[in-house]
Amino acid sequence: MKWGKHSQKLEISFKTLYELVVPLEESGRTDDLREVWQFDPASFSSRYRKVFCEAGWTDLCISAGGSVYGCVPAINSSFVAGDLNNASLREIWTESKILNWFREIVPQVVGQREPCCDCVCCPICAGGCRISALYLTGDRMAPDPRCPLVRRYNEKRRSTYNFRREIAHDEKES
Ligand code: SF4
Ligand code: SF4
Repeated sequence: MKWGKHSQKLEISFKTLYELVVPLEESGRTDDLREVWQFDPASFSSRYRKVFCEAGWTDLCISAGGSVYGCVPAINSSFVAGDLNNASLREIWTESKILNWFREIVPQVVGQREPCCDCVCCPICAGGCRISALYLTGDRMAPDPRCPLVRRYNEKRRSTYNFRREIAHDEKES
């Protein structure tokens, strides 16, 4: 199936990455990704950013008090990129460790964690949304727990852990 010229109007966001790309990839229908969405995870490149997280690439947020953040949901003390009372916006944009963290460290570090390191979407997803990771797991470096692949991976780890605990408990009782 092809959507012809209408496909030019479509963009794949984080939500559709999880909801559309991952199920197609999992069922071995990666050709559909290319034909329907004209999207090839292996050769993805963007003029604007390396990953679909827009913080520090096309997004920036300034609070009324002058604090700067990578995006609106990142308004949290863990993600302060700078303070306009002490530095210019240009300085913050180019030198902020937290903005560089969004740009470089996240793909390099979060993208290396399981299950993201083995995921075909990793070159553009890099482990998902940092805000979601912080709020849902307490760890801003965790793979995004909203992703079905991450959820499944975590469930499997949990059940293996419970299984091992049961065996250890049975051995202790006998
Ligand atoms: S941190 Fe999350 S909400 Fe903010 S730009 Fe990145 S993906 Fe979007
Ligand atoms: S497994 Fe990781 S890299 Fe792959 S889609 Fe999920 S969050 Fe993104």
